[in-house]
Amino acid sequence: MGDRFGQLLARLQMVDDLERASAVLGWDQTTYMPPKGIVGRGDQLATLAAISHRKFTDPELGEILSALEDEYHDRPADDPRRALVRVTRRDYDRITRLPEALVAERQRVSAEAYRAWVEARGAKRFTIFAPSLRRMVEVERETAEAIGYEKEPYDALVDEAEPGLTAARGEELLGALKDAFLPLVQRIAERRDTVDRSMLFREYPTEAQWQAGVDAVTAFGFDFSRGRQDTSIHPFTTSFGVDDVRITTHPELGYFPAGFFGTLHEAGHGMYEQGLPAEWSRTPLGQPISGGVHESQSRLWENLVGRSRAFWEYFLPIAKRYFPSQLAGVDVEAIFRAVNFSEPSFIRIEADEVTYNLHIALRFEIERALMSGNLHAEDVPGAWAEKMQSYLGITPKDDLEGALQDIHWSGGLGSFIGYSVGNIVSGQLWQAAQDALGDLRALMRAGEFSPLLGWLRENLHQRGRIYTTDEMLRRTTGHGLDPAPYIAYVQGKYQEIYRL
Ligand code: ZN
Repeated sequence: MGDRFGQLLARLQMVDDLERASAVLGWDQTTYMPPKGIVGRGDQLATLAAISHRKFTDPELGEILSALEDEYHDRPADDPRRALVRVTRRDYDRITRLPEALVAERQRVSAEAYRAWVEARGAKRFTIFAPSLRRMVEVERETAEAIGYEKEPYDALVDEAEPGLTAARGEELLGALKDAFLPLVQRIAERRDTVDRSMLFREYPTEAQWQAGVDAVTAFGFDFSRGRQDTSIHPFTTSFGVDDVRITTHPELGYFPAGFFGTLHEAGHGMYEQGLPAEWSRTPLGQPISGGVHESQSRLWENLVGRSRAFWEYFLPIAKRYFPSQLAGVDVEAIFRAVNFSEPSFIRIEADEVTYNLHIALRFEIERALMSGNLHAEDVPGAWAEKMQSYLGITPKDDLEGALQDIHWSGGLGSFIGYSVGNIVSGQLWQAAQDALGDLRALMRAGEFSPLLGWLRENLHQRGRIYTTDEMLRRTTGHGLDPAPYIAYVQGKYQEIYRL
């Protein structure tokens, strides 16, 4: 009997090993694999996914979980063994409630949707992608019915991405961000010319950009003895375990922020992965809380640190060693203002801190309308243009600038809200860290980032999935998800930059 927990661990470790092996193959596919490797790689990934799915949905695993639930029921909720059983149960129930036929159908629809999305992008025509999106919405509705939901089918997708969150709560959070940032967009527009960012568009040799990025994230605490950086078209982070975390970057010769802030962003993700509890690695407990909380770490290092004046007081002299001519005559004030330039733009991943969440609100509202049947897939570009105009005052000239820009919908719906959750959480954690550590600005000015990373390790990273997002925030900040600190941070910073 006593060995039941050992059985659970052995099964979970095997599943995790299979998933990390898939991650290695996936990383290689996006970084080094020659183009023609794609078919063989697809087969390998499908085989590993099938084995890992079979192992994880084994009814015997369900029996072990039930037995351990009885055995641990009077332990405290944050007892790690009880927590492991709880998070595994959540994952197990969600997966086993999905009929095999639906899982297979989802894979087919997703593969076809990806193909159609690529073709539609080439032609800049959403109509090519619309039938696939329609089928994806049908699959998502079936998925929601199988998993169960609180009020509306979209709840199931939101809860999948951000455990504990509902569509209604998502609407509320995004509503608060809209109320704060829509007027700010207007006010900044009147003063746009007061910020000059021309120095960011000079020629920045990509090798020097790479080194500058490595210097910055080494100072932050990204551990290159337990991770590495490579290049890929779209930067991403993946983890093969706490001691082997991979980030990628994509420096652009004529635009410094793309590569540099991309590196800071991915290193934020990477440091979260490197800080997860080693004693629970290879289990669902040793994983990040959610995509949104993951994003809180990338946004915190990229924006709250990397786009702060204090950071540039520290880093500008270093950057000038790499780019003496490009940054000649540029002072801290000028670079601080330039990297925070704000203007309405079409592409989400290039959006600044003021406009970013408006891009997310637009997607969330469209997804929810698709799921409820209030919007049809073929009408997405119209809805998109209308919202873009009302939130940002601009209209995309084609679907590439509009509804075809993100890959997400070819894999399913529901994940966008995580980006705004990430921003909100980053603001709350920042405020709490500041309360705990005193003058964060002075530390950053001195290039001292280890107190901040140590605080994040202790309060978030090392807890794995023991707490939900709300519980973690309540323990560290005293409140559940609360947009107020993030709003105050953005408002304060931009009022200062644009002298509003
Ligand atoms: Zn990210």
